[in-house]
This record gives sequence, C-alpha cells and structure tokens, in this order.
Amino acid sequence: MSGQISFFKSVENYVDKAAAFTDIPKGLVEQIKACNLVLQIRFPVRVGNDYQVVEAYRVQHSHHRLPTKGGIRYAESVDQDEVMALAALMSYKCALVDVPFGGAKGGIKINPANFTVEQLQSITRRYTTELIKKNFIGPGIDVPAPDYGTGPREMAWILDTYQAFRHGEIDSIACVTGKPVTQNGIRGRAEATGRGVFYGLRECMSHEDDMKKLGLSKGMAGKTMVVQGLGNVGSNAALISQQEGDVKIIGVAEREGSIHGANGIDIEKLLEFRKKTGSIIGFPGTTHIGDAGAALELECDILVPAALENQITSANAAKIKCKIIAEAANGPVSADADPILLQKGIMILPDFYINAGGVTVSYFEWLKNLSHHRFGRLENRFQHNAFGGILDKVEEMTGKQVGARDRDFLTRGGTEIELVNSGLEDTMITAYQQIRETFKQHPDISDVRTAAFVCSLKKIASDYISMGIFP
Ligand code: NAD
Repeated sequence: MSGQISFFKSVENYVDKAAAFTDIPKGLVEQIKACNLVLQIRFPVRVGNDYQVVEAYRVQHSHHRLPTKGGIRYAESVDQDEVMALAALMSYKCALVDVPFGGAKGGIKINPANFTVEQLQSITRRYTTELIKKNFIGPGIDVPAPDYGTGPREMAWILDTYQAFRHGEIDSIACVTGKPVTQNGIRGRAEATGRGVFYGLRECMSHEDDMKKLGLSKGMAGKTMVVQGLGNVGSNAALISQQEGDVKIIGVAEREGSIHGANGIDIEKLLEFRKKTGSIIGFPGTTHIGDAGAALELECDILVPAALENQITSANAAKIKCKIIAEAANGPVSADADPILLQKGIMILPDFYINAGGVTVSYFEWLKNLSHHRFGRLENRFQHNAFGGILDKVEEMTGKQVGARDRDFLTRGGTEIELVNSGLEDTMITAYQQIRETFKQHPDISDVRTAAFVCSLKKIASDYISMGIFP
C-alpha cells in the first residue's frame, strides 16, 4: 500500500477522474464504483496436531453482466480492500475488452510456500465449498480463474469440488477457467496474460506519432525491456516479447533480487537456471544489482512490473527511467506515483488493459466448456475438403498447380491454439484502438489510464441505462 489511500480508493479515484469526461449521471457512477457483494470467510485448516484459521474473500463487484469473473489469489497481502480493488478492476477490464462478464475477485490470505500440497488442496476445496454454500460460484453466477499464487492445479481442485456437489449439472465444467488442458481447459490460457501484454505493447508501439512523443522509434524490435516477477505473467510476457517481438531484455527482478545484463538476457535459459538453482542471481552474463526493487530503476524503453501491486510508489517513482510502463501486474503503480511518472513523460499502459489477455482467453475457455466441444473440431475437416475442392477446380480451370505448402495453408482450418491466439490478438488490438479513439475525441485527456477508464465506464453505464433498474 502506498501509505496514503487504499488500493480500492485509488481505483475509485481513477474512475472519478475519468467520469468527469463523460455525461454519466453522478449517481450511476457511484453505483458502478460500488462492490455489489462481499463475502468474508473464516475456516480452519489442520496443521500438524493444531488448527489454523484461514481468512478468505470473494467479491463480486458488478452484476451489470453475468456471470461475474475474476481470479483467486493466494498471498499474505490479501485483505478485503485488496480483493475489492481487484474485483473492481475486473469489471473495467472486461468492459474494455468486450468480455461479457461483471468483475469479481477472490483471495485467501496464505503464503502457499508454508503449506504442503495436501494442505493447499484442503484449503482450496474448503474455500470452494464455502463459495458453493453461499451461491458464489457457478457457470452463470461467478467463475473464478488463476491469479497470483494459484494456477491450473488449484482450478482442477475447484472444478472437482464443484462437480462433487453439483453432480449432473451439464455445464458444471464452466464453473472455473484456467483449468489444465486435460481437465477441460483451453490451449493458450496458461500464457494468455503474458501473450496479451506482448500484443498490447506491440500495438501501442506500432503508432509512429505516439512513439515519437516518447523519443522512441516505431516498433518493439531492438527496444530494451526490464521485467519484475518471473511468474506466470512475467515469464510469458518476457519470453514472448523476446521470441516474437525481438526485444532485448536487460534486467530482471525476482524475490531474491535484481540482475542486469546489458547485452541481453536469454529468458528461456534464465528460467531453466532458476529452476535448477532456485535463484536468478549468478546467471551467466549478468550482474547482481540489488534487491527486487533495483531493476525497476534501470534505464530502459519498456518496464514490465509483473509481480504485485504498489511496486512503484512515491518513494521510487522519481528514479524510474523508462519510456513505457506496461502494468502486467494489477496495481503495480500506486496512486501517488502515477502523477510523478506522467510528469516525467512516461507512458503507462494500465493494468486493466495490458493484462486483459488472461480474462479474454478465460472467456474463450468458458465458451468452449458451454459448447462442450473443442474449437475447430466440427468444421476443420469439412473446411479442408471444401477448400481443397475449390483449389482442385482452380487448378483444373487454370491448368496451373498450387504448391504443396500453399495448398496446406489454404485448406487447413485453424487449430485450437491458433484460434485462441488470433482471438486474443484481435481483442488486444481492438481495445487499444478504442482507447486511442477516445484520446482523439477528448484532447483534454492526457493519459492512457483515464482514456481506458472512459471507454469502460461508457460501456458499463450504457448497460445499466438500457437494462433499467429492478424492481
Ligand atoms: P505468479 O504467482 O505466477 O507469479 C508472481 C511472481 O512474482 C512469482 O514468481 C514471485 O516470486 C514474484 N515476486 C513476488 N514478489 C516479488 C517482488 N517484490 N519482486 C520481484 N518478483 C516478485 O503470479 P501471476 O499469476 O504471474 O500474477 C502476477 C500479477 O499479474 C498479479 O498482480 C496478478 O493479479 C496479475 N494478473 C495475473 C493474471 C493471470 O492470468 N495469472 C491475469 C491478470 C493479472
């Protein structure tokens, strides 16, 4: 926490700032900002011969679209304010990228490293049971997903627990997303948030006039990047930006400290090194430059904080020397740091845009689960045969042969991963174009975060206005 205002209050402040650029009635803005349902849970877990009380939450921020959707976080930092703020960000995120869900979030206040796998399974199943008891989970109600400290393993436990209680419910597999692919998950979900960070950055950096204002040439290739946090989001954002965007990663931070490698750090090799040694420190070709905060202060083009909130605060904002911050984590820039960074001319791609890839592909997984078949399964062979027939006719009429590679490309339906990635790419590009359009319409808006909030607010307000109020 920045020490001044809470995370939830800071989200509210951003919304108020954006609302001033709209004609949404004041009372409706208050309704949009409010968290509709807050569930606070306490339950015991067996630790050796003793008990430990576990504190947990689930917050449904907005019901303007259903189900609500949002990850579950396992971290010691979890408290009600944090979960409320993250749930609110989910509402704005879903609206921004046209994912038809309301926002939600869950959190369990534990450090997973302090528990055995069996204990983590008990905690996850008990938490799920509490959600079921309170009607806080279900394919049409509220659909959790992974977040900090959780992953496909926990999502599979949640699914299994839900199905034990809702035996025979035909859509039960859509009660949670981010599941292992073998447990009704979808290919591409694990890397979706990091991949979305890459697509968002690539789109943003493709606009020459915008980049000129930052003193950068257009495009990602050759630009320097620093990443904080090599978990699900950070490692994939770094890996994909390096492999597909040709960026040069010159700094990495993890819990154990920060490393600098002016000639570039091979992320794939660094991940292997950390797996083997348990640390990024000592990776060949890099120098250890200090604690986990040190890398944030390295001079670079793109800074990707991908760990937790409040990593850039008023205490270190003046020392940040990048051109673009891509908020891969939720809330990595505190409210008091935001104006300092903007004053320095740094462009901030806000969390609820740049990390929206996860919920986008979760939406695809939910659609797959509700349709009970893998994308492409029904139509791929038909397409292959139909397009093959057309090519045969073209060959017959022209007397020319289509090459084997071209024939393969032209007749092949997309695989699941190809369809997922293209849907994600389109989503990130379209949302950025909407934000840019808002900039054009409002020359008085000076930062991407405010423009993005204006886009989201207008969409949510329009839902409320067209729905009316019950009763
Ligand atoms: P994760 O648990 O997989 O990884 C987090 C990583 O950050 C871990 O490797 C951890 O060791 C590291 N870390 C913790 N404190 C650090 C510090 N001070 N400095 C450097 N590294 C530190 O979590 P994740 O799923 O990658 O989530 C990271 C962030 O992205 C969170 O803010 C989360 O809310 C957000 N996010 C995640 C998803 C998703 O799909 N997983 C989607 C949207 C947003």
